[in-house]
Amino acid sequence: MTETKIIINQTDQEIRVGLVEQGRLAECFIERTQSIVGNIYKGKIKTILPGMQAAFVDIGLPKAGYLSFDDLVTSSSKSLKENQTIVVQVVREGIGTKGPRITAQISIAGRQLVFMPNSSQVGVSRRIRSDKERRRLRSILDDLSPENTGLLARTAAEGMDKKILQEDVVFLQKCWADIETKKKKGKIPSLIYSDGNLAVRIIRDRMSSDITEIIADTKKNYTEIHKFFTRFMPQWIDRIQLFSGNTPIFEQHGLESALRQAILRKVPLNSGGSLVFDQGEALAVVDVNTGSFVGKKHLEETVITNNLEACQEVVNQMRLRNLGGIVVIDFVDMEEEENRKKLLNTFCNALKNDRSKTNVTRLSELGLVEMTRKRTQQSLTQTMTETCSTCDGTGSVISQETLCYDLLRQLHQQGKKARKRPVKIEASDAILKRLKQTHQAYLFELEKRFGIPIELCPNNTLADKDYRIRIVSSEKSRSRRTSRNKEKS
Ligand SMILES: [Zn+2]
Repeated sequence: MTETKIIINQTDQEIRVGLVEQGRLAECFIERTQSIVGNIYKGKIKTILPGMQAAFVDIGLPKAGYLSFDDLVTSSSKSLKENQTIVVQVVREGIGTKGPRITAQISIAGRQLVFMPNSSQVGVSRRIRSDKERRRLRSILDDLSPENTGLLARTAAEGMDKKILQEDVVFLQKCWADIETKKKKGKIPSLIYSDGNLAVRIIRDRMSSDITEIIADTKKNYTEIHKFFTRFMPQWIDRIQLFSGNTPIFEQHGLESALRQAILRKVPLNSGGSLVFDQGEALAVVDVNTGSFVGKKHLEETVITNNLEACQEVVNQMRLRNLGGIVVIDFVDMEEEENRKKLLNTFCNALKNDRSKTNVTRLSELGLVEMTRKRTQQSLTQTMTETCSTCDGTGSVISQETLCYDLLRQLHQQGKKARKRPVKIEASDAILKRLKQTHQAYLFELEKRFGIPIELCPNNTLADKDYRIRIVSSEKSRSRRTSRNKEKS
């Protein structure tokens, strides 16, 4: 049993739900605008892309939803027409420039079951492993499923008797009836169903005997969760508390600092090594490093200890940072085949604590583990950070030396045109200092060659990558402004 607390912080701007396992922040969900995943819309087909086997659907949001033909109710892609009305559900939030991914195969999640109108299949979550239990649930679902409706048993259905599951079916049928009504009456496009408050959704999905405390810091969330428990899980109603401390709730539980660390590149390991995270557009890379060198004799031993420790921490960090898509882990190379096997086993075992679907390929000869992890929401980095404006996210800025060369090239051009009028160079103190230190002689030479006085004018409103060169004329002054990067002027 992993003792878990759920800490809920709500402000006017955002809601944050932290899952704290054995005192350590394991996962954090942040919603700034309420998530649209699970929302059902009455939409209109805008464009059909036969080549891509997909269509764009206007669901009333700034970006159209992307509907793959695979996600239609029947394989009736030929009957699709532009401007046709269609009921769709969001399965994935739009990320970056992409619009949301939608499906016409509607499903509504209850506590133990998922209700799938337009389907007639019954199924059992893969997380329920026992064959006997799977058979039992399957036969209950066969009995309970309304006509033309599929049912899927979620993990929470494990061990539940038929009566409880039936309550869930009744609840879900009511939800569906509401949706049907809105489907008939609603405008096009419009929202006809929404999946509810983030905290309630997480509790609905995660609640188990492991969760010993749920603490909310607003009366509103407390009441909503209380209502949810009363309706669906009265046995756990005493686990919800309303926070009354004076320190903000996330600070009180050490979660603010945990979150700050969760966006850092480097994570130290106990054995002295570290992990370094790099998130690119296409994949995330985790680099495993050993600590200081401990002598050749014990090298292999040190490396395997370090790698094995890294396994658990990589999984912890993937959950906490919510990495999705392709993840490549660069473990430290090991000579012995046996150790390599041990590493892969340990890593796959560690992944069992991760609820997201993962798929690990073998350990490559270069010591790389390639894996995929199901993307559910934006990563913490995507939610909490923005691209650095100084380096535009590259992590490097133009060097002072390169900038000085650039400036001197421009100065040479301007010097020719100046016809003995004075030339002013405006730049930050740092750049001017560099010019004087390294290029004084050349500046004198240009002054002599073109017969122009050169004046250095400090202007600290210019960033270190900007400068201005101006020919000073008595009547009208011509100015020239240059920059290495896109100008925001
Ligand atoms: Zn930067």
